[in-house]
Amino acid sequence: MNLEQLIKIRRELHQIPELGFEEYKTQAYILEFLKSLNKDFIQIDTWRTGVFVYFKGTTGNETIAYRTDMDGLPITEQTGYDFASEHNGKMHACGHDFHMTIALGVITELAESPPENNVLFIFQPAEEGPGGALPIIQEGILAQYQVDYIFALHIDPRQEVGSVSSKPGLLFANTSELFIDFNGTGGHAAYPHETKDMMMAASAFNLQVQQIVSRATNPLEDAVVTLGKMEAGTVQNIIPEKARVEGTIRTSQPQTMQTIQNAIEKMLEGIEIRYECETELDYGSNYYMVNNTEVYTEKFEAALQNSSITYRKANAAMTGEDFGYFLKEYPGFMFWLGVGADYGLHQSKLNPDERALEIGVEAVKRMIKS
Ligand SMILES: [Zn+2]
Ligand SMILES: [Zn+2]
Repeated sequence: MNLEQLIKIRRELHQIPELGFEEYKTQAYILEFLKSLNKDFIQIDTWRTGVFVYFKGTTGNETIAYRTDMDGLPITEQTGYDFASEHNGKMHACGHDFHMTIALGVITELAESPPENNVLFIFQPAEEGPGGALPIIQEGILAQYQVDYIFALHIDPRQEVGSVSSKPGLLFANTSELFIDFNGTGGHAAYPHETKDMMMAASAFNLQVQQIVSRATNPLEDAVVTLGKMEAGTVQNIIPEKARVEGTIRTSQPQTMQTIQNAIEKMLEGIEIRYECETELDYGSNYYMVNNTEVYTEKFEAALQNSSITYRKANAAMTGEDFGYFLKEYPGFMFWLGVGADYGLHQSKLNPDERALEIGVEAVKRMIKS
């Protein structure tokens, strides 16, 4: 498949971003595309809004799985592209349109000359939330394919086109969202003694939570606790009966996540006693770390030798990816694909360079054939 064809697919997908488990048009687009291949050694299955494409290999010694995510984000696009999102308030701002296009590009090439190994392409819904990887594993969908290893890519706006990067071990962190509601008793600003002020309770929590990483976690294990949103009150002379904070936790080790969550729960018990209120805690979407298997990461690096693609060693990041759940069950790895953009992931002006589509196809193909 040439670059022009890849760009066409990418732009068509870019126009129809959908949120997690609502990828109906995206799924229909992929199924329609696959129809044109119409080869009897390709088996196509669907799971919710996801799609599985399985190639029976000529020798079938090994089964390789390649995963792409499918969903967009609740962001209003501001790229000014003539192929910008047609879905108001939704945008492919994390490059999942690129990821799907690359998968379709590789599928098209394999349909022309079937691979030796069995290859399973997983079009996975809901990476941005609530998470599609974990339910796919929990429902035992992959068990029937007997996967030997699995890999995936993510676009990297900061890396130039023509390069990829990865590393053995930790690539992305364990992540957990954090939503806390504080429920007390509101009242007149001049009668504070008759109220249970939730602005105070949430503020106290906000300050206390900053001590977790400095005092409760092992300094040799990385951790971040960030509260990104705090809400309380209506007007200047009413003491608020409710407050809400929202945040995220990121760690390099699963046990550090547990330590932090335990500490938060203890703090909330204390807040409830001191501020005479009730709190409700919700961890939202939780993602397991992306921990690359050394042997496959090295195999990938070797597969790119004598190609025009530059391989670099990546740094670990405290970002999250639900691909980590696949790597908890199967060996494999994830890599970054350089797309040299001016804006970062999750930004309304994200403008990845489409020439990277060809590089992505080449890198994935080389891995599958190595
Ligand atoms: Zn994202
Ligand atoms: Zn993403």
